[in-house]
Amino acid sequence: MSQSGLNQPVLRWKPNALFSEKDLKSATTSAHFATLIEALGIIDRSKEKNVVLVTRTPVGWTTYEYIGSSACKVDFRELRLGGLPLGGNPLLPETYIVDGKGRFSRIVFDGHQYRLDETPRPIQEPSGSWVVEAVVPVEEINHSKNVTWLPKITLRPTLDELLAALSWVDQNMPDGKVKAGGSKHSSSQVAVSADVYIEPERMKLIRTVNEDPDVYRSDLSERRENLVRGGSGNTIKEMNRFLWEHGKSFPALGGFDGQTLGGVFPTGTHGSVFTRGPLAETIVSIDLALSSGQLVRIEPHDGITDPKALASTLSNTRLIQDDDNFHAALINMGTMGVVHSYMLEVTPAFHMNEIRTPSTIPELKEKLRDGKIYSLAGAPGMPVDLEKIPPRISDGRDGGFKDQPIRAYHLEFLINPHTDKVIVTSRHPTTITAAADAELGFDPPGRDLIRTIHRGARFGRPVLPTWLQENFRGLLSWGIDQLIKIAPSATPKLIDSAMDTLIDAAYTDRSFNVFNVGDGTNQIPTLSGTIFVPVAADAYLAAVDIIRATASQFAKSRNRYQTGPTSMRFVRGTKAMMGCVDDVCAFEILFTGGTTWALEMVEAYEAALREGLGHEAVRVHWGQLVGEGVGRREGYSEYARWREVRDELDPKGVFVNEWLERIL
Ligand SMILES: Cc1cc2nc3c(=O)[nH]c(=O)nc-3n(C[C@H](O)[C@H](O)[C@H](O)COP(=O)(O)OP(=O)(O)OC[C@H]3O[C@@H](n4cnc5c(N)ncnc54)[C@H](O)[C@@H]3O)c2cc1C
Repeated sequence: MSQSGLNQPVLRWKPNALFSEKDLKSATTSAHFATLIEALGIIDRSKEKNVVLVTRTPVGWTTYEYIGSSACKVDFRELRLGGLPLGGNPLLPETYIVDGKGRFSRIVFDGHQYRLDETPRPIQEPSGSWVVEAVVPVEEINHSKNVTWLPKITLRPTLDELLAALSWVDQNMPDGKVKAGGSKHSSSQVAVSADVYIEPERMKLIRTVNEDPDVYRSDLSERRENLVRGGSGNTIKEMNRFLWEHGKSFPALGGFDGQTLGGVFPTGTHGSVFTRGPLAETIVSIDLALSSGQLVRIEPHDGITDPKALASTLSNTRLIQDDDNFHAALINMGTMGVVHSYMLEVTPAFHMNEIRTPSTIPELKEKLRDGKIYSLAGAPGMPVDLEKIPPRISDGRDGGFKDQPIRAYHLEFLINPHTDKVIVTSRHPTTITAAADAELGFDPPGRDLIRTIHRGARFGRPVLPTWLQENFRGLLSWGIDQLIKIAPSATPKLIDSAMDTLIDAAYTDRSFNVFNVGDGTNQIPTLSGTIFVPVAADAYLAAVDIIRATASQFAKSRNRYQTGPTSMRFVRGTKAMMGCVDDVCAFEILFTGGTTWALEMVEAYEAALREGLGHEAVRVHWGQLVGEGVGRREGYSEYARWREVRDELDPKGVFVNEWLERIL
């Protein structure tokens, strides 16, 4: 890291139409200077004809040197600017580039975009002050590669700089829209911004409540032990490690750990622990930066913060302790402000055992009908308590799924919408010895074949499929996409065989590794849409039939298939106003990344489900493929109150993008 907190910027060079773009090699480590004139002096003394980038930092100037090509000198017109630092002022950048011919150029902003202009050698220090860390915007592309956007301004503040950054936007871009970004794993347009985009990389902070300023109620007793503050830019993976090292775990997680805290909660991300709602229910307090640059702390009416202690210790933070504000803010699609950090209430660390067994659609429907999901999923109690009581394992004739716990902590089903195949996955707390735990790590098994084999079957997932996904994921997804194009009708069989490889009698690991479906699986580009359907009156079982009939219709009329399975996960009703208030089954409809008809198919499923089950019964995940042409507010009985709270916190509509206005 340089003094400015930025890594050495990458300078890209495209000499002419014949040569492709490449990164210029870095020549030295960066050098730091108090003044611009001192920084230029060092360039004069250098005998090399390298390219030098000179940029302002909060405390002076930094130079970065790059080696040009030996054959030809690098001309500044051949340089690509995306990602370069702007020297603390996005509108009047303080960044110069001296090219291989010794000419000076400066990055300038013309109101729409950035370019390099030849300029005389600067002879004066800048008069204005450092404003905010910003970089030349690049085209942003999400993980699923189905959404791109080019912001006008990209800011990269630390948590300490966040309020000043938002005040700067408020004063300098009064009509500008702002979106903070997470790890770009949403496949909807929920994170898109055409104006200002705030990157998460520097907004990190993890500490226990005891390391936080002491502004909390004195009667929290043992709850205090489980309170942890996380910065909005910290990833779930980083949190998992910190929590485990402090004897803690998230009580429930989704199947992936790369999202940031700022990004994962506001779209309603969930797992399948049926005693719990979406992951946002882990939040007990939200520190939110508003567009004016003010910090508000939002909690329920009986929140953890002591108002008097906050007023005397953090007097610039406005406290809102109100249930409506809190429940509106939990799932808000990034529309209320930029989250600074969250206080989360987690649980003592636990291990889990995963079991994956085969089943069929007829068996699934028979064993779940008449609300029987409640006797098979959602074991009540804290995971550390459940660890101590081994679950009863079903023999398949007692109402349960053979070899599965009768009431599992986490239960989900993977179905192939084109066949009868089902895989049942349960995850239940279990105990292991300290010696066995010492063999475990912070990644799910798979990356290292030898280590995975060495751990033994109980501590690994089926070895070969996992290892293949880890190591050949690009090839694997390309191969599947090609195969599906050449022989579309082979798709259902292909999915059946992929599902068979998951069957596994036991896999035990630290809880966060068991929740994680594996780095390889998560990094294969996929497209997915999640549709939520009520559990009440077995509506979700009717939905299984509707989804299968729609898939079959799609295949018949179009010769196109869903190119992955559908997972059925169970989420408890939540008080979050833009989440599902009733218990739901979340149908996650998966496709390979190359499925150009994925959105169309999700729309077809949704239309059929709305027709069969009623409009209000059907809702979708804000961060996954979302069909157009549906007034989505319909599914949320508290939408009007949610909108009021949102509008009070962000009266100018700075954080609502065009897509959200359109679909709500
Ligand atoms: C491989 C993969 C696995 C997934 N697994 C699951 C799963 O198991 N369960 C599930 O429910 N979903 C799952 N999802 C969906 C995913 O969890 C959500 O889309 C999530 O919101 C993505 O988080 P992110 O960090 O990538 O945020 P982004 O997609 O970058 O942003 C999401 C939203 O958060 C907002 N935001 C980000 N940071 C801030 C901030 N600091 N302040 C205010 N707003 C902010 C953005 O503006 C945007 O509105 C998965 C997606 C992928 C690609």
